Amino acid sequence: MMRARKRFGQNFLRDPAIIQRIVQSVNPKPGQHLVEIGPGHGAITLPLLKACGRLEVVELDRDLVQPLAARAQAIGELVIHQQDALRFDFSSLAHAGRIRAVGNLPYNISTPLLFHLVEQAGYIEDMHFMLQKEVVDRMAAKPGSGDYGRLSVMIQYYCDVAPLFRVPPESFDPVPKVDSMFVRLTPWREPPVNVQDVASLTTLVRQAFSQRRKTLRNTLKGLLTTQQIEDANTDPAARPETISLEQYAALANQLHTNNPQAARG
Ligand code: SAM
Repeated sequence: MMRARKRFGQNFLRDPAIIQRIVQSVNPKPGQHLVEIGPGHGAITLPLLKACGRLEVVELDRDLVQPLAARAQAIGELVIHQQDALRFDFSSLAHAGRIRAVGNLPYNISTPLLFHLVEQAGYIEDMHFMLQKEVVDRMAAKPGSGDYGRLSVMIQYYCDVAPLFRVPPESFDPVPKVDSMFVRLTPWREPPVNVQDVASLTTLVRQAFSQRRKTLRNTLKGLLTTQQIEDANTDPAARPETISLEQYAALANQLHTNNPQAARG
C-alpha cells in the first residue's frame, strides 16, 4: 500500500482499466490546455501528459512534487503548482483560451472546490472529475428528488452535468468507504436562465435550503415577501426541493430588485 495522507484526501487510483476509461472520456488532444487537480503519484497525469505533451497540475502535498516531476521528465513538459487548489486562481492559466480541468478530487474538500471552480467557469472549457457518487447524485438531481439541493441548483446554473460511469471502492488505494462516480461538467456558454445578479442567487438558494422542511414563505422571510414570491410565479407554500432553477432565478431577480442589500449580507 502507498503512503497516503488522510488529511489530503489521498486515495490513489490503481485500476488500469478505470484509468484508461478516464483518459478516453477526457479525450485529450495535443495543444489543449489541461490542468489536473491533485495529481498524486501521477496515475492519470502521466497518460494525459503523453497525449498532450504539456500539462499543468496543482498539488498541495509537497512531498509528492519531486517524485512526480522525475516520473514526468521523459514523457513531456509538466508544470507543477505546489498550491492549494481551493485558493488557486485558475483564470490566471487561461491566458491563451479556456482550460480543461481534470482530477480525481480530494473528497474531503470536494464541495467547496466545486464552488470555487464554477465561479471561474468562464475560463473553463470542461471539467472531468472523480467524486463521491453521492456528490454527483446531488449535482445532477432534478426538482422533487431527495438529492436536490443547493449544490444541484448552483452547479446546474453554471454547467451541464453528465455523470459518466461508476467506480467501485476497490479501484483505489487505500480503499475508500464510499462509491465513486466520474462526471463531466461543461460550463454553459450562455446561462440557461436569466439571473441579474449571481450574489442574489447564491444568497437566496442558501437561505431556501437552510431548512428543507419549511415552506418558502417561512425560509425566505427577511429576504422576500409573500407577494414577491408570488410575483416570481412561485407558490409561497411550496418547499425548496420542488423549485426549479428557472423559479430560483426569478426569485433571485425579485431579491435583487427589491432588497439588494440583503443579497450582499
Ligand atoms: N490523481 C491521483 C490519483 O488518481 O491517484 C491522486 C488523487 S487523490 C484522491 C487527491 C489528490 O489531491 C492527492 O494527491 C492530494 O495530495 C491532493 N490534494 C488534496 N488537497 C488538495 C488541495 N487543497 N489542493 C491541491 N491538491 C490537493
